[in-house]
Amino acid sequence: MLLNSPTTPATSPVKKELTHFFDIMTQCQKMTVDFWQNIDAYPPACTLSPLSNYDSQLKKLPEKGIGSMQTMAWLEKECLPYFSGKLGPRFLAYVAAGITPAALVGHWLATATGQSPLPNGATTIPATMTNQTIAWLLDMFSLPKESMQGTLVASTSIGNILAMVNACEWYGEKIGLSASREGLGALPPAQVFSSSPHISLIKALGVTGIGRNALVRVKNISHREVMDLTALEHSLKHSNSPFKIVSASCGTVTTGDFDDICAIANLCNKYDAWLHVDAAFGIFASLVSKKRDLLRGLERVDSIAADGHKWLNIPFDCGFYFTKHMSLLERANYANSSYLSFDDEETSESNRGLQLSQAFRALPIFTTLQAYGKAGVASWVANNCVCAEKLATWISQSQQYRLITPVYLNIVFFQYQRADNKEVERDNEIVLQQINNSKKVFLSPGEMHGIKGIRAAFCNWRTEKSDVEIIINVLSTCSP
Ligand SMILES: *Cc1c(COP(=O)(O)O)cnc(C)c1O
Repeated sequence: MLLNSPTTPATSPVKKELTHFFDIMTQCQKMTVDFWQNIDAYPPACTLSPLSNYDSQLKKLPEKGIGSMQTMAWLEKECLPYFSGKLGPRFLAYVAAGITPAALVGHWLATATGQSPLPNGATTIPATMTNQTIAWLLDMFSLPKESMQGTLVASTSIGNILAMVNACEWYGEKIGLSASREGLGALPPAQVFSSSPHISLIKALGVTGIGRNALVRVKNISHREVMDLTALEHSLKHSNSPFKIVSASCGTVTTGDFDDICAIANLCNKYDAWLHVDAAFGIFASLVSKKRDLLRGLERVDSIAADGHKWLNIPFDCGFYFTKHMSLLERANYANSSYLSFDDEETSESNRGLQLSQAFRALPIFTTLQAYGKAGVASWVANNCVCAEKLATWISQSQQYRLITPVYLNIVFFQYQRADNKEVERDNEIVLQQINNSKKVFLSPGEMHGIKGIRAAFCNWRTEKSDVEIIINVLSTCSP
């Protein structure tokens, strides 16, 4: 059958918008600036939107659109007032950061200009800037540029997946095959040693096919989230698998604790294990002279996963993966086709990670480092550490609360505790609710070896000592 005879298409509603594009963007900018300037007025956590005018019309898929201006008007009325102020200085749950002006500019321009490091390669400005940005990151974290290379990824979760893929390819190479070609069935089952892995590492074991059961839980040092080295050595020595991976932590999510990377690297050398480090936010300890020692030995590891959308205060999604075995990673992630027309000799970000199409992730990192420099980033990282110390000092001197662990870097892990020491769990649930109901600060729960507590994680460039005063005021009025 022939195609229907062509009818005159209606003027595209999108094209009409170009006639007032300036107004659209001006309105978008106004909403952005209003939100940022009033961030303190927003409660740190989300409130439920009543969506009062969310009439039945809007519940249906719109047949005809209302245009960008009206859509923004609707958002401004129905959504924005109920958004959370999580970009503000007192959202200290999880490991959540803010967004700096320069990062927003980079992110916005990457989107607005539609640039991408893909496809064909190294000669384009985005590709060149991506390479330069990765080199800057290696520099900033004092990682060895001669032996380590990196790629920009969506998150530490993805970095952890790449590390497992990379380790499989590495072990395959040792026994004369390619794991990505032959499949994991051609390899002996791996054993992955870790004491307090982040959930994303366990997920990585699942999705890569290594298997969640491959995890060997190494005993912790008592009252800490780091590996007991004697226990690790014992496990490595008696492992029945020749394919061993150790996954260490620089900055555990609950308490911010650091494994002894130097000692673990020695053991990995001795027992021929791949050493991966999850350093999602802990890698930024390299910027603070008093904390730098926590990362001793990091230059010796095989791979590192870390986040830009945490302590670097870049918008989602932004992460880094560093490895000493980039060519093996590239072999595992290789995909090329004539329609892409990139030269096999060139390195391409798409052949280093999971995504083919991808955002120009380097730009917000580049603008951040260009605008503030290493010293600028260091200033808010150090300031966050001081804020954590200040809160911890108050807690340790208070009658109501106690620290569960010391502050290693930027996380305060504590507990409400009354003299009779009964009902600790119940008390803490109530107190956390009271803290968050204050709408002045938002904290999250945490658990270490069965001890339940409350966490405050400092990662936001906006947070000041005066915010800690506000938090202390809230904490001192709580009572279960
Ligand atoms: C946040 C975090 C992750 C996961 O990172 P995403 O960016 O959320 O994927 C992994 N490990 C640690 C220690 C983290 O803090």
